[in-house]
Amino acid sequence: MITGRTRLFGIIGHPIGHVRAPMSFNERFARDGIDAVSLPFDAEPERFADAIRGLRALANLGGFVVTAPHKQAMAALCDEVVGEAQLVGAVNTVRREPDGRLVGELFDGQGFVRGLLAQGHALAGKRVFLNGAGGAGNAVAFALARAGVAAITVHNRTASRAADLVRRLSRAYPQCTVAVGPKDAHGFDIAANATSVGLKDGELSFDVSELAPTTLVAEVIMKPEKTALILAAEARGCPAQQGKHMLDYQMDLMFHFMHIGQ
Ligand code: NAP
Repeated sequence: MITGRTRLFGIIGHPIGHVRAPMSFNERFARDGIDAVSLPFDAEPERFADAIRGLRALANLGGFVVTAPHKQAMAALCDEVVGEAQLVGAVNTVRREPDGRLVGELFDGQGFVRGLLAQGHALAGKRVFLNGAGGAGNAVAFALARAGVAAITVHNRTASRAADLVRRLSRAYPQCTVAVGPKDAHGFDIAANATSVGLKDGELSFDVSELAPTTLVAEVIMKPEKTALILAAEARGCPAQQGKHMLDYQMDLMFHFMHIGQ
């Protein structure tokens, strides 16, 4: 039951109808007896700064998740940006401090890494092919480098974005060998899709037909649960990691950061 003391949490994006966070958060609040509620906030880009000003003023707001297309804009609107969000320049979780200050972090990449580790996949010393240098690609690349992979080869349709990611990544993690490369996952230990290719049924981010069956194929797309890439990897006999794990394994990190249930 929502009472006068219920703490508010949210997820802000545009559009917002597809997000899973309100269900996941509210289920967990109910399970753990936490007097809080998670709500969807739909804010168009032109009104985003106004929406954040309003949220900042709400004393019973604990924090909120930020999704597309606002992750970069949110980084600029926070009073403080910490951790991976500082390196990537994007925020997906905001904590509202009692004085109204907004502190932002980015857990997308850490969710991806935690998901892989939780399924028993080792990362240290591995060689990674990454297709995508957008928001998800940046988050995944920085988190993989931090997790100790030996090398990351980045491909992106728009080559300048891959080059920019590689430049920033090699500066932050000089011990990781980072390069721009062709769309060829052959010969890598891990091959990951961080583009939006695969949202539509049948779209394949990259070719898996020549991959060794030991290559781990990982995905950021959550819907469909099994993208064409995952289906093709499974058919090839490769271990495969679906995009839903990336979000599932962020929940604990988000709860801790927003001081929920503490
Ligand atoms: P973004 O910043 O807009 O980047 C989109 C990426 O996809 C870019 O690399 C873009 O290449 C590429 N791309 C789009 N259409 C393409 C095409 N037809 N051919 C080749 N490349 C194409 O978006 P984002 O935030 O990174 O999100 C990407 C996906 O990750 C989305 O599906 C999102 O739902 C998912 N995601 C999942 C989670 C999770 O927790 N599971 C978290 C975050 C994001 P260009 O640079 O050339 O445009």
